[in-house]
Amino acid sequence: MGTRIQLPQVRTSREAKEKCAVFGVWGDGAGVRLAYLGLYAQQHRGQESSGIAVSNGRELTALVGMGLVPEVFDAEGLERLARQGQRGVIGHNRYSTAGGSLSCNAQPLLERYVGGQVAIAHNGNLINAEALRGRFERAGHLFHTTSDTEVIVHLLASPEQQRAPDPLAATLRHLQGAFSLVFLFPDRVEAARDPWGWRPLSIGRLASGAYVVASETVALDVLGAAFVRDVEPGEIVTLSERGLESRRFAEEAARPALCAFEHVYFAHPASRVFGQNVELAREKMGEVLAREAPPPAGADYVVPMPDSGRSAALGFARACGAVYREAIVPNRYVGRTFIKPTQAERTAAVRLKLNIIDELVRGKRLVIVDDSIVRGTTTKAKMDQLREAGVREIHLRISCPPIRHPCHFGVDFAERSQLIATGKRVEEIRDYLGVDSLHYLSLEGLLSCMRGEPAHYCTACWSGEYRLDPEHPEGEWRIEPEQMKIFGGA
Ligand code: SF4
Repeated sequence: MGTRIQLPQVRTSREAKEKCAVFGVWGDGAGVRLAYLGLYAQQHRGQESSGIAVSNGRELTALVGMGLVPEVFDAEGLERLARQGQRGVIGHNRYSTAGGSLSCNAQPLLERYVGGQVAIAHNGNLINAEALRGRFERAGHLFHTTSDTEVIVHLLASPEQQRAPDPLAATLRHLQGAFSLVFLFPDRVEAARDPWGWRPLSIGRLASGAYVVASETVALDVLGAAFVRDVEPGEIVTLSERGLESRRFAEEAARPALCAFEHVYFAHPASRVFGQNVELAREKMGEVLAREAPPPAGADYVVPMPDSGRSAALGFARACGAVYREAIVPNRYVGRTFIKPTQAERTAAVRLKLNIIDELVRGKRLVIVDDSIVRGTTTKAKMDQLREAGVREIHLRISCPPIRHPCHFGVDFAERSQLIATGKRVEEIRDYLGVDSLHYLSLEGLLSCMRGEPAHYCTACWSGEYRLDPEHPEGEWRIEPEQMKIFGGA
């Protein structure tokens, strides 16, 4: 890889950044190509860096770099990887939530330890990583990344874990927080999901008979792989010459914590996440929102904020019998905008990404539907743009509750003080955004759109009720006693 010059960059389309996609396959002769396509299909989960690691059955090799999937991998790079051998392949797209945007943190992390070689790809966030790292550093261990994922290798390599009958399972029992992990060893791929199930991880089967794992089923669809099932919370699945095998490192938590925000915004609409199609869940959120906060009499159109508000807007318009018009058009060919982070340039970048069809909106009373508001600065710029286009009234509807608390489980929201809804009433937010009315979907309404038990979803960024206490990652958990058994054993 040549040297990459990092320019200051501002991502204008989203204020909440996704964290990471993982991928793994064993036993298909074209594993590198599959990983490339699988990562491409999951680009929405992370655009900061990308990487692929391969095994030829004896040795591992990795190619990682900063940028989007097609920026990191050209034809020559992919061929070079494939020539190294591709019996097993794992891949990763990253958006940093722990460790910062540094090239040293690009994954898969490839390490050599007492047990041989291992490469790791991680989606999630470990809340006890700092405590573990401190302990290792005090014992003289050297770290060469700033990411939370590296502590996993140090745990795996420690004599305590190496003496355990199942070193990987013993390692995973020490981790607190959110993790959907894919490991590549010379003779197998191992995929594991934390006992709370925060992040998705699915298994598919290719026409060749080989098994694949991916964060989202949209990657399986692109490869023509049949969906087999999700990796269960607390489960490790092994892909190897023996096919697919399963074992547990922990019981599933008594109260799982599936991330409800995956359905609100992160996941691809075509994916099936936690057993439910994302597009249909979002449309339902729009329907419930329309019942909770119908449009004012005489509103002209329901307009989605592209692209994330589209599904909820469809459901909203259908539920209240309103006319749906796509009056805001995204410029699909604007990638990342490398600009100085001044407010004026941020505003320009928002405008570059969204074009408003003046003829449709001038003098109209519009209901605008979007999925969420984080800092509020991007939403404000969009609302200002609508006013300048001559919109008479803006009635903003948001298909999730106000985000008032940071996420510690794999989503890069702003600090609490930077969240627009922290300490503010909805009326104050409405005033700041300069809209005529503002309504959010209620938490009960949101959970009514989720499949299964409402209590099995994490809602911490809205409710402030953290399933694990990020302030006390060393054991003072606010969790039910029955969940403590997760941390027993080797
Ligand atoms: S705090 Fe919010 S974004 Fe984070 S895992 Fe929970 S529901 Fe998802």
